[in-house]
Amino acid sequence: MTKHPRTLPVVNPRTGEPDYEIVAMDADAVAAEARRLRDAQTKWRALGIEGRADAMRGLADALERHADSVAAALEIDTGRRKLARSEVLGVIGSMRGWAALAPTLIDEPDWVQGRAKPNFKHQTELVPYQLVGVISPWNFPITLSFIDAIPAMMAGACALIKPSEVTPRFADALAPVITEAGMADRLSFVQGDGLTGAALIPNIDCVCFTGSVATGRKVALAAAENLIPANLELGGKDPLIVTASADMDAASTLALRASVLATGQACQSIERVYVPRNYYENFISQLTDKAKNISFNFPDISLGDIGPFIFYKQAAIVSGQIDAAKAHGATVLSGGTIERHGGGYWMAPTVIRDVTHDMDIMREETFGPVIPVMAYDTIEEAIALANDTVFGLSGAVFAGSVEEAKAIGQQIDAGAISLMDGALTGQYFEAPKQSFKASGLGGSRMGIEGFRRFFRQKAYIANTTCPLTMKDFSEG
Ligand code: NAD
Repeated sequence: MTKHPRTLPVVNPRTGEPDYEIVAMDADAVAAEARRLRDAQTKWRALGIEGRADAMRGLADALERHADSVAAALEIDTGRRKLARSEVLGVIGSMRGWAALAPTLIDEPDWVQGRAKPNFKHQTELVPYQLVGVISPWNFPITLSFIDAIPAMMAGACALIKPSEVTPRFADALAPVITEAGMADRLSFVQGDGLTGAALIPNIDCVCFTGSVATGRKVALAAAENLIPANLELGGKDPLIVTASADMDAASTLALRASVLATGQACQSIERVYVPRNYYENFISQLTDKAKNISFNFPDISLGDIGPFIFYKQAAIVSGQIDAAKAHGATVLSGGTIERHGGGYWMAPTVIRDVTHDMDIMREETFGPVIPVMAYDTIEEAIALANDTVFGLSGAVFAGSVEEAKAIGQQIDAGAISLMDGALTGQYFEAPKQSFKASGLGGSRMGIEGFRRFFRQKAYIANTTCPLTMKDFSEG
């Protein structure tokens, strides 16, 4: 039976119209691509860390030469200009940053003399996975395709990336850049949807997945079936606790930015805010005033603060949560409705008061420009509310000092806490962190640990005297 290629339409977030398409790669095509990269891995690894660093610098230079075309494609994918450009520049910086670290990344360990049995000695070799698969989401498409792929490649693995079918244009724009840099036999993309993603897993040695909890569970199960490690970076419901000692003007400014940057479509966005009851009205009124000053980057993409929903289906999820909260007594002070402009779906920063923890808006991931604010009476209550979630991605505390904020942050059950600011894991990638609870699985993608995940330890054990004989183990 002839297999027909599956063509997937891609919607432009600013027009709401499908104006692009991809051909979803089937399982055979994914397997062939994986074999092609595997065939090149021995040579890639043999370059050594310095050789790979040079190649990575070459890729960064090629991407810099073509930054305009890649950013232009990413701009259409995401409906935003400045963030698209800064994503591309960020990936170039990350390639150069990892390359610069090369001399310090791998220690050649010496032989170690056995403690219990001194006639033995051992040496450890770090062996990279041959092929690392990356499955990325639509919210920061190029950043989250490369955040794991770059350290995996520096470790000596080849990388095969499956970008989101919602935002695939940037990957097509990148393909010639990768070829120009001479990297096409060690780094490539497979286009497609969840079926293509599922087809990737049996063909790789380690998966790095960024996306929703629901899909993350499927990926974890498939990885278990194939006995490969799964690094999962999933959703969040990040709390911000503001204390009575905080400057409410600064707190409301940061709450706004950390919630609505990128239209709230960031895993580390602040999705709920807890404020002392005595300061609640003051905080809410400052936040609402500031929220009303945020504008859309429409009709001119180069003006304004926030873009449309990248994925039109997300708009319905966000407005569904807002409507349900309103039906249970919450009050919307700004935004709150889906606006149609130019065919796209938009929402102005939405400040919501009188929320409770029996509303989805306080417990489920929203992934939109929504800031529900709840009053608390004691800091213990605020901490309990912050922890009343299945998620444990990150959180934030704004207090009178870093020390006071940290003491509260220590009681929040999440993998990273921003102190005296919010959503800092989207700005600073050097602090190792892991996702707690349902927000993920696996080692840290941040810091040097993000590199070490891509090795297995191989032991060489030497006997420095005579080989053991059966006599050594005989009963009599
Ligand atoms: P998603 O889970 O719908 O899709 C992510 C990727 O998985 C896509 O490429 C998709 O095609 C692929 N996929 C779908 N089904 C699959 C399957 N069965 N097997 C393999 N791959 C499959 O997520 P999304 O909607 O694209 O992204 C938004 C989500 O990502 C949010 O929940 C957000 O919090 C999360 N996210 C997390 C982080 C983090 O670092 N923790 C960062 C960004 C986004």
